[in-house]
Amino acid sequence: MSERVIPLVDQRHTGFRTPAAALSTDQLIQPNGLLTDTLGRPLSDLRISVTDRCNFRCSYCMPKEIFDKDYAYLPQSALLSFEEITRVAKVFVAHGVKKLRLTGGEPLLRKNLEVLIGQLSALRTVDGQPLDITLTTNGSLLARKAHALKAAGLKRVTVSLDGLDDEVFRRMNDVDFPVRDVLEGIAAAREAGLGPIKVNMVVKRGTNEHEILPMARHFRGTGTVLRFIEYMDVGATNGWRMDEVMPSAEVVQHIQSELPLVQLEPSAPGETAERWGYADANGHHDPALGEIGVISSVTQAFCRDCNRARLSTEGKLFLCLFAENGYDLRSLIRQPPEGQDGDALLASAIGHIWQGRGDRYSELRATLSPDTGTGGRRVEMSYIGG
Ligand code: SF4
Repeated sequence: MSERVIPLVDQRHTGFRTPAAALSTDQLIQPNGLLTDTLGRPLSDLRISVTDRCNFRCSYCMPKEIFDKDYAYLPQSALLSFEEITRVAKVFVAHGVKKLRLTGGEPLLRKNLEVLIGQLSALRTVDGQPLDITLTTNGSLLARKAHALKAAGLKRVTVSLDGLDDEVFRRMNDVDFPVRDVLEGIAAAREAGLGPIKVNMVVKRGTNEHEILPMARHFRGTGTVLRFIEYMDVGATNGWRMDEVMPSAEVVQHIQSELPLVQLEPSAPGETAERWGYADANGHHDPALGEIGVISSVTQAFCRDCNRARLSTEGKLFLCLFAENGYDLRSLIRQPPEGQDGDALLASAIGHIWQGRGDRYSELRATLSPDTGTGGRRVEMSYIGG
């Protein structure tokens, strides 16, 4: 029987083919939970974007002038259904994934998300453990949904909040949404037991760096872990400039000017945040005061431990937040070759794709000149999730 090879291309961006081996029935890769890429990095974390829509227009992610009322969002039929997401997640889990993060756009805009969480919660890791199912949200709908998400099996939430000053926050999200409602969402999530809650603040120099200390004072001693994210050149629409980046080292120094900190060990391999604990009078970490994190993709790249894959809303696999191209898995999910085991081919394709992965954009950023490196169109963060 002649072998049928299906080309995998990214429909939005032309000129990217997956090696035929990825779908060759003679070179099937069967999952064994031990998949690694060309840098020896395991595949243990899958970020699943469930919508490309959002009710905020954060300037560093979804600038209003681009994502306006005429922007061509994906039609419902293009989105993976909950059953399809669960099917592909099951294959990733068989390859070793232990953590699923639901993202967007704003994931809580996807109707009945609890149903998907319920389906994903039934999956087990290769060693029979429940998955760590988390969600990243802007918090705008969290107060209403926290309890239902928890009941469906969600473990934790990460909430994006770029300041406490209402005027600054409204300027950052560009839709006039009040801080108060996000804080109510965080309180509801805490009450529902979706902790430890993480709060992510993107620091953009010249816009919200004066909010760093007010945010630290607010969350210190509450059990919520505040993380400061360096402003990144994600996508191709946020007009990123290096002089608007406040390096994490400077953020830590700024906080230490008032609140003593002590560096902590990473809590898990592949963790993106560098941990700093609030210190007591003797300079020791006081767990009751809690900790902060800094995520330094620009000044301290962490690609060597990057174990994250990203699945877009319409079923494209991206190997890096700064990738230009993705691999279309949806056609394999919806129209597997006749007479073939679609899931076995899907597993093999993911296996070949990850094995061939060498992405390390943040490490290379400084060496890439705008017109050579990935000066092309990096995928938008709102499309594959942060
Ligand atoms: S730049 Fe890409 S490879 Fe590096 S840590 Fe980020 S997502 Fe991973």
